[in-house]
Amino acid sequence: MKTIGILGGMSAASTQTYYRELCDLTRERLGGLHSPELLIRSLDFARIEALQMKGDWEAAGAILNAEAKALQQGGADFIILATNTMHKLSDQMMQGVDIPLLHIADATANAITEAGLASPGLMATAFTMEQRFYTDRLVAAGLTPVIPDDRDRAETHRIIYEELCKDVATQDSEDTYRQIAGRLIDAGADCLILGCTEVGMLLNASNVDVPVFDTTLIHCKAALETALA
Ligand code: GLU
Repeated sequence: MKTIGILGGMSAASTQTYYRELCDLTRERLGGLHSPELLIRSLDFARIEALQMKGDWEAAGAILNAEAKALQQGGADFIILATNTMHKLSDQMMQGVDIPLLHIADATANAITEAGLASPGLMATAFTMEQRFYTDRLVAAGLTPVIPDDRDRAETHRIIYEELCKDVATQDSEDTYRQIAGRLIDAGADCLILGCTEVGMLLNASNVDVPVFDTTLIHCKAALETALA
């Protein structure tokens, strides 16, 4: 089994889900006492968020690059970056790193294509919904993403940073997210990408009317496949 290097803490709430999910999937798959070979580097998200707010992506990328190198040195065979947003910096992060990155948008696009779907609604941070680094990757995979309107983007983003990244999940925010998902479906989405690794705290297959693609769960599944290949 290969060693998965998880670069996480963005936020810590979802990195816990990665650990739990990878352990569950490995036990289901291999049985007995099997558990995944992991290196988890969990950063202080306050430090990263401050750089996001300042728009100092260069400094954030330098941090990710140093951490990716440390994961390689520590024995990781490949890396998963446990946040959609910070994939904005994946090129800078992987500079001078020889082990591969398993890209969260590629794993997600593959899952959607395999399911025969084409127009995913995207609920994520404003960075992920509004900048091209993520949606371009979906388009390159043949998908047509459906993005929330201004108000719904702002509210989706606010709930991520003010609540979900602090490990807070409320009924009010679940209701809001369900309404936003409903409007994406009305706008033509045939499925929904939970495009932020914390959105699964509020939405899942049981409370959304179209197939749901939870990037955290998809990323874990793809990572285990890679680890066992
Ligand atoms: N976990 C989030 C994501 O998947 C947001 C936190 C961050 O900005 O990294 O995009």
